Amino acid sequence: MKLSKSIEELEYSQALESDKEAMAWLETNGRKFGQFIGGEFLFQKNADQIKVTNPADSSILAAIEIADDKTVDLAVTAAAQSQKSWYKAGGHARAKVLYALARLIQKHARVISVLETLDNGKPIRESRDSDIPLAIRHFYYHAGWAQLQESELAGQEPVGVVAQIIPWNFPFLMLAWKIAPAIAMGNSIVLKPAESTPLTAMFFAQLCTEAGVPKGVVNIVNGAGNTGATLSAHPNVNKVAFTGSTAVGRAIRKSTAGQSKKLTLELGGKSAFVVFDDADLDSVVEGIVDAIWYNQGEVCCAGSRLLIQASVEEKLIGKIKKRMESLRFGTPLDKSIDVGSLVSDKQFEQVSHLVKSGLKSGGNLFQCEQPDSSKNYYPPSIITDVDSSHPLVQEEIFGPVLVIMSFRTQPEAIQLANNTRYGLSASVWSENINRAMHVAPALIAGVVWINCHNKFDAACGFGGVKESGFGREGGKEGLYEYLKPVQLKYKATNGASGNKASSTSNVQHSTSSEIDRTLKFYIGGKQVRPDGGNSIPALNFDGSISAWVGQGNRKDIRNAVEAARKANGWASKTAHLRAQVLYFFAENLTVRKDEFIKRLMETCGVKKPEATGEFNATVSRIFSYAAWADKFDGAAHDAPYRGITLALPEPIGIIGLVAPDHQPLLAAISLIAPAIAMGNRVVYIPGDQYQNIILELVSVMETSDIPGGVINIVTGDKNELSTHLAGHGEVESMWCWGDSELNKNIESISVENLKRTWCHENNDRDWLDMNAGEGTEFLRKATHVKNIWTPYGD
Ligand code: NDP
Repeated sequence: MKLSKSIEELEYSQALESDKEAMAWLETNGRKFGQFIGGEFLFQKNADQIKVTNPADSSILAAIEIADDKTVDLAVTAAAQSQKSWYKAGGHARAKVLYALARLIQKHARVISVLETLDNGKPIRESRDSDIPLAIRHFYYHAGWAQLQESELAGQEPVGVVAQIIPWNFPFLMLAWKIAPAIAMGNSIVLKPAESTPLTAMFFAQLCTEAGVPKGVVNIVNGAGNTGATLSAHPNVNKVAFTGSTAVGRAIRKSTAGQSKKLTLELGGKSAFVVFDDADLDSVVEGIVDAIWYNQGEVCCAGSRLLIQASVEEKLIGKIKKRMESLRFGTPLDKSIDVGSLVSDKQFEQVSHLVKSGLKSGGNLFQCEQPDSSKNYYPPSIITDVDSSHPLVQEEIFGPVLVIMSFRTQPEAIQLANNTRYGLSASVWSENINRAMHVAPALIAGVVWINCHNKFDAACGFGGVKESGFGREGGKEGLYEYLKPVQLKYKATNGASGNKASSTSNVQHSTSSEIDRTLKFYIGGKQVRPDGGNSIPALNFDGSISAWVGQGNRKDIRNAVEAARKANGWASKTAHLRAQVLYFFAENLTVRKDEFIKRLMETCGVKKPEATGEFNATVSRIFSYAAWADKFDGAAHDAPYRGITLALPEPIGIIGLVAPDHQPLLAAISLIAPAIAMGNRVVYIPGDQYQNIILELVSVMETSDIPGGVINIVTGDKNELSTHLAGHGEVESMWCWGDSELNKNIESISVENLKRTWCHENNDRDWLDMNAGEGTEFLRKATHVKNIWTPYGD
């Protein structure tokens, strides 16, 4: 036989990783786990249990107890009791503990990888070479941030007790993504692993004791969805960090509304993998293997929608099919397989069902092998002949299933890629760097990879937009998710209980100005009458009428949002231009100094020095954000690969601003200026008091080159208007200063399109205070960071 023929006919034999050590560890623990609370392993009396199985052969690995409400409470209490001393211990002390954790995980990497593969069904090659090394990197990286916290993150403090709920697709890696930044910054945590994959978390719990993590700083409770729900809604939890399905993300948003909790949601995706005709097609094929068959496609950012330029479609599909023939399936512990088992019978049924029912709407399925339910093996699959409205193109399948469509032009590619309710990630494939760098920013997603897919690193933030959630994990931006500005100690002394704008029915006041003045809304760059035709008096502090202002309704809000939508060109203006516009605005306002000071004295009842102070601070604040416009400009991360990752702050889109009552001029500018400096458009609803003040600014805006629709103002009943605004599907974020009822309302309504919210007590700060009234906190809220991965070299 010729050598070449022998080589062709060579077959792989099994190269099994030993499970001896992992099994011994399970035996040592009696194959039974309870909870890890306050540094102890606890078992409840007569607790309900969940069986943990190996999805590849249905064998039972262990049993875990389900934490009941009392046990969850115990865990939260343990976290709360340890948190302050953990923070007080200082950055260096925390850095040493995180470093010890990294070292210990490294030492036990092999057994953790095997446990992960047994529990989850993923190939050992992936847990060994990807998940666990990346988890280790997270602990090292965040040990560094703990060390630097005092100097680099001054003015911020930990949020307190953090509930962290993780899914089953990357059990140990997700644990590391969540726990490392949280404890590095001085928080204590309660983590709930997924019910089907809790084993490596219990292994980690044992390492915590060895690494010297103080008792109560890390707590782990096991259980199913109910345990997660109890934990996230617990009143003593200050922040919830969740990764999982969009449906559960929504449920958590709803159940935590009005509880003043910080929240990050890392949810599902249907990420585009865009291939231009000048791409290196052989690299593309390997990229597709990484994008959709890595981890059996059970990846939130899997490249599950392949968009191919029509001229290379046939050729590329041919190459993909050929490559599919050589992908190997086998027992997950076999070191030479590519695809393992889906995580559970339930997930196998879910993927099978979605594909089967989806194909009823058309499409051609190609697989090289048959699914095998006894091993939860679902083969790599592609589906062609579908259009962008097809259910399989829109729904997240969360399995190794790739849908394929084609496009002709670059704009069509961008449009198709963005045609999804999700916005987690995307990749662009082209050998033309100009083209790739043009397309990447146009893709609506939190992460974009150029000529690669599914690359991750602790230094590069990860997270989504739209229904993929909000917040980032990793990078400096990820740290702020576990921090808050040092607590404000402010009690409003003036203006907070002044007069409101009133409905006409029950008010009889004198008018202070000689001529009756009616101030209109400002929408799309024009002064506009209210849709309902009604006006209400805006009262001065003494009860006299300062002016009449429009009483807005749902239609007015819709018009304002529509105007903001049309003004989307503002985002693509240069930062230099936005700065110039803001400086010009300040300049024009300065000319009207005396008039505004008089107006503030008359309206708010403040003395001249106070009014002058507010006016001067307002001009200074506009200058500050004009200055920041071209300086809040991202980073280039040195992640461990041959390439550079650009972290670009992007505007959120349309932001709804619901203002506090006092310091009406300065507060308005403190909200509007950072938002528009970063390229957002805003719809502004003033506080209940002194609604005339913001409308007095309209004539200044009109003369300041601010494009129509960038700032829109609607007056009227603050609660009613902001409810309409929060419910609008095109508003992407709400900043709200209101009472607790209003804030709760805003947070619950925002669940519809999963908009970001930033809610505060009505008069929580003195806007004259530089630390409270301006700064990068506002700019961070006005942006989200997109990480663009750009490898180089051949
Ligand atoms: P879930 O979103 O249900 O689970 C994620 C985590 O949340 C698990 O720990 C789960 O607990 C917990 N959980 C479930 N319900 C609640 C609740 N009401 N309140 C708080 N926590 C809760 O994902 P599934 O495991 O059910 O998977 C379903 C689908 O979700 C997948 O098919 C996939 O489409 C998507 N998914 C997306 C992921 C991502 O990374 N974006 C990851 C996993 C799934 P428990 O598992 O114990 O029930």
